[in-house]
Amino acid sequence: MFSKELVLKHRTEILHALCSSGSAEPLERVLDILLAQGELLCEDYQNIQVPGRALYTNARQLLDLVYTKGVNTCMLFLAALKQVLPEAHGATIPFSECCSNLEKKQEPQTTFTQTLLAQRPSLVSQLQDCTDDALDALLASGHFTPAEYDEVQLPIHTPSQKARRLLDHVRSKGEVAAEILLQYIQQKQTSGSPNYIMHANILYIYQKKLSSSLAAQSCFLSTYGGTSNMSLEDIYTEGHLELPHDCIGVHGSLGLEDIIGVAGTVNEEADTILVSGEAGSGKSTLLQRLHLLWAQGAAFQDFLLLFPFSCRRLNSEQRELSVKDLLFQHCCWPDREQDEIFQFILDHPHLILFTFDGLDELKQSFSDEHRLCCPTQCAPVPILLFNLLQGCLMKGVQKIVTSRPEAVGPALKKHLRKEVLLKGFSQAGIGCFVRKHHSDPTVAAKVLESLQTNTALLGLCHSPVLCWIVSQCHKELLGCGDGSPQTITDVYLMILRHFLQHKSPVKNSIGFGWIKEHLDTVLHLGQLAFEGIRTSCYIFSDTEMNACGVTEKDISTGFLTQSTGLSSVHAKMYEFLHVTMQCFFAALYTVLSTNTDHYIIPKLFESHVMKEMNMNSTCFGICLPSVEQQQQVSEREAMAVEITNLQMTATFLSGLLSQRHRSLWLNCCPRATVEKKVKEVVRCLSKSLRKHFRSIPKPVDGEKKSMHAMPDFVWLVKCIYEMQESSIAKDAMSKLDVNHLKLTYCNIGPVECTALTFVLQHLKNPVGLQLDYNSVGDVGVEQLLPCMPICYSLYLRNNNITDEGISKLIAKVIQCDNFQKIALFNNMLTDACTQHFSQLLKTKQNFISLRLGNNNITAEGAKQLAQGLKVNHSLQYLGLWGNKIGDVGAEALANALESSKTLVWLSLVCNGVGNAGACALANIIKNSTSLEELWLTDNCITKTGAECLIQALEHNTHVKSVWLKNNNLSVEEVEEMAQREPRLIL
Ligand code: ADP
Repeated sequence: MFSKELVLKHRTEILHALCSSGSAEPLERVLDILLAQGELLCEDYQNIQVPGRALYTNARQLLDLVYTKGVNTCMLFLAALKQVLPEAHGATIPFSECCSNLEKKQEPQTTFTQTLLAQRPSLVSQLQDCTDDALDALLASGHFTPAEYDEVQLPIHTPSQKARRLLDHVRSKGEVAAEILLQYIQQKQTSGSPNYIMHANILYIYQKKLSSSLAAQSCFLSTYGGTSNMSLEDIYTEGHLELPHDCIGVHGSLGLEDIIGVAGTVNEEADTILVSGEAGSGKSTLLQRLHLLWAQGAAFQDFLLLFPFSCRRLNSEQRELSVKDLLFQHCCWPDREQDEIFQFILDHPHLILFTFDGLDELKQSFSDEHRLCCPTQCAPVPILLFNLLQGCLMKGVQKIVTSRPEAVGPALKKHLRKEVLLKGFSQAGIGCFVRKHHSDPTVAAKVLESLQTNTALLGLCHSPVLCWIVSQCHKELLGCGDGSPQTITDVYLMILRHFLQHKSPVKNSIGFGWIKEHLDTVLHLGQLAFEGIRTSCYIFSDTEMNACGVTEKDISTGFLTQSTGLSSVHAKMYEFLHVTMQCFFAALYTVLSTNTDHYIIPKLFESHVMKEMNMNSTCFGICLPSVEQQQQVSEREAMAVEITNLQMTATFLSGLLSQRHRSLWLNCCPRATVEKKVKEVVRCLSKSLRKHFRSIPKPVDGEKKSMHAMPDFVWLVKCIYEMQESSIAKDAMSKLDVNHLKLTYCNIGPVECTALTFVLQHLKNPVGLQLDYNSVGDVGVEQLLPCMPICYSLYLRNNNITDEGISKLIAKVIQCDNFQKIALFNNMLTDACTQHFSQLLKTKQNFISLRLGNNNITAEGAKQLAQGLKVNHSLQYLGLWGNKIGDVGAEALANALESSKTLVWLSLVCNGVGNAGACALANIIKNSTSLEELWLTDNCITKTGAECLIQALEHNTHVKSVWLKNNNLSVEEVEEMAQREPRLIL
C-alpha cells in the first residue's frame, strides 16, 4: 500500500499512538526528525506546534500537512513514527507496507544554523541534561537576553522541551549564536566539562569592553568636535558607494552592509575589501559609522569582534609587534585570559572583522615581499599590516581598508577580494546633509538655494568635507552675494576666516587685513602642516608643535584636534581636522613664509614627474640635508602615497596666488616676493603641461591625433582653474594640437568638469571629448556646457546622467555648429529625454551619430525619436542597444528611417523586437541606398520576421550584414537561411 493511503487509512490509530499517553514527546520527536530531514519547514513547525492548543489538534494538523505534501513526506513520516513509537503503540500500524529510509537525507550543511536543524534529534537529547549551562554560555556571550533565558527555562517545560525551545531561539539568532552553541556541545563532548562557559564569559566581557570603547570613539565626528554637540547619528548622511565600472552586471548605489556582501567579488580567496575615495569623500566617516553600528548591535552582527586601526596612528608605532600585540595594544586590552581570547580569534577568523583607515597615510607603501605567517612572531608594523592584508596572517578574517585610489598599486590589487568606490554625496545627499546640519529649516533652505545658483560650488559640495565647510560657513556664504566661492581655495579661505574670526573677532574684519591680524597663528600652523607633509607626518607631538612655535592660542582656533586613538598611548597628540586642511596650511606657509627654499614651488609641481620616473629621486631631496641611504629608500617608498598630498598642496598654492587673493598676502609680505612666487607657479604649470603634451604619441597613419590624458593632466588643469587665470589656460591650449581628447577612467566628477571647461574652452580646434567611465552626473554636464562649442563629439558613457542633465545639454549643443556626435551608453535616461533628441535631430542637419544604448527607453521614447528622424537628413549612426522599444518602437523608427539617405548603421540589439518590428525594418533595407549594417541580435524574431528581412535583402546590394544571432530560430532554420542569404549573420 502507498504511504499516502496508509496515512489516511490509519489516521485514527496514528493519532492514538501519538497522543494517548498524554505526553507531547512522541509528536515532538517526530517533528524533530521531519525538520532534520527537511520535510517540514520552520513555518510548518510553527503552524503545528501552536502553544496552548490541544495535543490531538496539533497531531491532526501534522497528519493533514504530511498528507498534502505527498508520498515522500508520508513515507518519511511513517518511518519517523516507527522510530519514535514503542513497539506496543505502533503495533496496529502496518509500517512494513511502505518502505522508507531515514538515512537518505545527507546533504552537506554549509552553515551552523543548517547544522542545528539537520542534527536536531541528537542535539535535543544531548542538550536536555545541560540546558542551563548552554543558556549560561549564550547569555554570557550576549546572544541571549535574560528574558529569553527565562522563557526557555519555564518550569512547565520538560527537559527535552527546554532543549527544543533553546534550539529554536538560537536558530533565529543567526550564525554566531548557532556556532557558539555547537562549540559548547562539542567541547562538552570532548572534555566532559563545560569550560566553554568560562570561555564565553571572558569573551563576552572582552566584547563589551571593545564595543563600548568603539561606541565612545565613534559617536562624534572630529570636525564637529569643538563647535557643536552634533553626534554622528545626527549628521551621518549616506555617501554614494558603487562598484567599479568593470564589474559586469552590477549597477547603482550600494548600502553600507553591501561592502562585505558578495556583489563585486573579484577574488574569492582574498579577505581584503578596499573602500577607495578621494580625500574628503567620507572614508573615515564611513568606517566610523560602521564601527558605531556594530558597537550598538545594529548591524554587522555576524562579527563577534571588530578591531579598528588607523594607519595614521600606526605610523607612530616604532616597536616590532606581533598580531596579538597589535590587536590588544592598539585596539583593546583584555583584562583577563589574553591567551584564551587570542586563541578564540585564531580559531574563529570568520567571526572577526579588522578595519584599517587611511592606508594612503601609512609611511610605507604596500609591498608583499616580506612574508610572515606566524601570528605570534614580532615584526615592524607595516610588515604585519601588509601580511594581514594579503592574507598570510589571519587568513579568513575579513579586512576592510580605506585609501585614496592613487595609493593602491597593482601589488595590493591582486590581494583584494573586491573594491568599492566612495564617491561622496549624491545630489540628494547634499540636500540631506545641509538639512541635518542646520536645525533651522529656513537656514538650510537658504543655503541650498544659494548652492543652486552657484553650480560650481554645488559641484564642490559632492565632496562631504567641502559640504561640511560650506554648511559651517553659511553666514559668510549667504552674506557674500555674487562673490560666493567658486574654487576649492575659495572655500578653504572661507573656513580659515570663519575659524579665525569666530575665535577672536578682529578689529579690521572688513577688507584684506584679517590674515595679518592672525599672521602668527597662520605661520605656526602652516609650518607644522608643511613639515608634516614633507615628512608624511599627520599626528604631532608636543615636541613637533613646539618646534613650529604652536601655542595654546593657535590650538584654540580649532584647526587642530586632539588625536584620540583607542589606545591611551597617543594621548596629547594633535592632528589637523582633515588632511586637506593640512595641505591648505602647508600651501599658506609656502605663500607667506620667507624661510622656504626657493626650490619648493618647482618641486611641488614636479611631484608627478617623480612618479613617472618610478621614484628615482625624492621630491624634497634637494632641500633636505643628506640622509642615510636606508632612510632615503624608505622616504622614496613613502613618496608613492605622498604625491597626492603634494599635489593638493600645489593646487591650493595655485589658488592662493591667484589674482583674486593676492591682496591678502600683500598685507603680510613684500610685493616682490609674492610676485616672484606667482611667476614661479605660472612657469611650473606651463612647463608641466608642455611636458605632458610632448609625451602625446604621433597619430597612427590615417587616424586622428589623440591624447589619452593621465590623471596628472586633470590635476594640472585644476591648478589652472584655481588660479582663475584665463591667460594661462589660453597659452596652454594654444600648444595642444589634438583631434581627440580621451579622459576615460580619470575620476572626473563635477569639480573636474568645471576646471576642464575653464581650460578646454580655449582650444584652437574642435575636439572629440571622451569622458567615458567617470562620475560626471547632471551637475558635471552643466559645468561642461561652455566648452560645447569646441566639441564635435561628446562621449559620456557610464556617467550617472539623467534626463535632467540631457535637457540642459541638448539645449546648448543645438546651438553649436561643430557638434555632431554623442554617446550616452549606460546612463539613467528614460523616455523623458527623447523629445530633446528629437528636437536636436530636427534642428541640426549636420548631426551624424546618436548612441543611447543601455538606458531605459521604451516604445514611447522611440516614437518621439522617430519624429526627429523623419525630418533629419544627416544621421548616419543610431544605437539603441539594450533598451525596451519592442515591436511598436521598432515600427516607429522603421517608418521614420525608411526614406533616409544617410543612415549607415542601426542597432536595435536586445530590445524585445519581434516579427512585426523585423518586417517593418525590412522596409528600410528595401529602400535604403546608404545602410550597411543592421543589428538585431538578442531579440525575439522568428522565421516570419527573418523571411521579411531576406526578401528585403534581395532588393538591396548595398547592405553588408544583418545580425540576427540569438533570436527564435531553430537550428534547421538557421542553416537553411544562412545558405540562402550569406549576409544574414545568424
Ligand atoms: P576621508 O576619510 O575620505 O578623507 P572624512 O571621512 O574624514 O573623509 O570626511 C571629512 C569630513 O566630511 C568629516 O569630518 C565630516 O565632517 C564630513 N563627512 C564625511 N562623510 C560624511 C557623511 N557620510 N555624513 C556626514 N558628514 C560626512
